[in-house]
Amino acid sequence: MKQRKIFHVVFLSIVFVTFFLVAIPPTIGKEMSPLKPGMVNTVLGPIPAEKLGTTLIHEHFAFAYPGWFADSTMYPENWKEAYKTGLRVIKTAWDVGVRTIVDATPNDTGGRNVELYKKLARKTRMNIICSTGLYTDHEGSPAYWKTRVIWGTDIAQLISEMFIREITVGIGKTGVKAGVIKVGSSPEMSKYEQAVHKAAAIAQKATGVPIITHTEGPTGGVEQAEFLLKEGADPKKVVIGHVSNSRDVQYHKAILAKGVYIAFDRIGLDIITPTDVIVKNIATLCKEGYADRILLSHDTVNYWLGRPISVPEKYLKAFENWRIDHIAKNVIPMLKAEGVTDEQIRVMMVENPKNVFLGK
Ligand SMILES: [Zn+2]
Repeated sequence: MKQRKIFHVVFLSIVFVTFFLVAIPPTIGKEMSPLKPGMVNTVLGPIPAEKLGTTLIHEHFAFAYPGWFADSTMYPENWKEAYKTGLRVIKTAWDVGVRTIVDATPNDTGGRNVELYKKLARKTRMNIICSTGLYTDHEGSPAYWKTRVIWGTDIAQLISEMFIREITVGIGKTGVKAGVIKVGSSPEMSKYEQAVHKAAAIAQKATGVPIITHTEGPTGGVEQAEFLLKEGADPKKVVIGHVSNSRDVQYHKAILAKGVYIAFDRIGLDIITPTDVIVKNIATLCKEGYADRILLSHDTVNYWLGRPISVPEKYLKAFENWRIDHIAKNVIPMLKAEGVTDEQIRVMMVENPKNVFLGK
C-alpha cells in the first residue's frame, strides 16, 4: 500500500515536472515571440527592415466604415473580387518599384482580412504589413470598449493587451502578426481616443513596433504627437498621418518639432488637398532639411465592402489621382521639378519607412 502511494507521488511528480519543463516553454516560445531587433512583421512572417525597399506606409486593400455589415444581405462580402482587385493593385505598384505596402486598416472597421493579405502576399512577391489598432471615436466602433468604462474598467490596459497579443502571438487564429499599430484621433481627442492612444504607447513599449496615425486635420497632429510622447511612445517610431489634410507648412513643422515622422499619405485625394499644393509643401520642407522625417503614401481604398460608392459626376475628376501609382508616376516628377533631389526622394520612399521600423 505504502509502495503504491510512493509510486503515485513519484509518477505524478514526473508528469508535473515534464509538463512544466517540456510542454510549457515551447508553447510560450511559439506563442509570445517578441520581434528580434531589426525585424519587421509581414503577413508571411518577419523579415529584416533592410529588405522593405520602396514602401507605401498607408493604403487599404479593402475597407468599410463600421455598420457596413448591416447592409450585408444586400451587399454580401465579396472577397473573391477584393482578391482580384488586390492582385491588380499589387501588379501596378510592383511595376513602379513598390516592394512593401502597409495596410493601415484598423480592427474595428471592415476590411482587415488577414487571410486576404496572406493570399495576396503568397501569390505576389509584395511585402504586406498589416495593422492592429482602433479608429476614431466617431468613425470607428468604440461602443464595445466604451460600455466597459461604465463599470470602471481600465480600457487602455485591455486594449493594449489586445494590441500586444496581435503583434506577438497573432491575429485571431491566423498566426499572422501585426507589424504596426494604427490609431486615429479627432481634432480634440475624446476620452476614448486617449485610452486608445495610451494603449498604443503601452503596446509599443512592450513590442517595439511603430505607431502610425490618422488625424482629421487640418489640425490635431501636434496634440496627437504630444499625447503619444507623454505616454512614453518613441518619437522615432511614431508617424503622424494625414498631415496633407492641412495646406499650412507651419502646421507640418510644428508636428516635426516633436521629433516624430510625418506622412503626406493622402496624395491623390485631391478633393481634400490638390496634389500640386502637397508637392509644393513637401518641396519646401525638403529644402529646409526635413526630408529624413517625411513619408509618402496615398491612403487608397482599393475595394469597398458593402454597397458601391457612387461619386457624383462633377467630383470624379477630384478622385482621378487617387491610385496606387500616383506618387511614382506623377508626384515624383513634380517633386523633381520643384528641386527635390533623387536622393531626397529615395530617403522619403525607402530610408524613412525602414528607419521608422528601426527607430532611427
Ligand atoms: Zn487610411
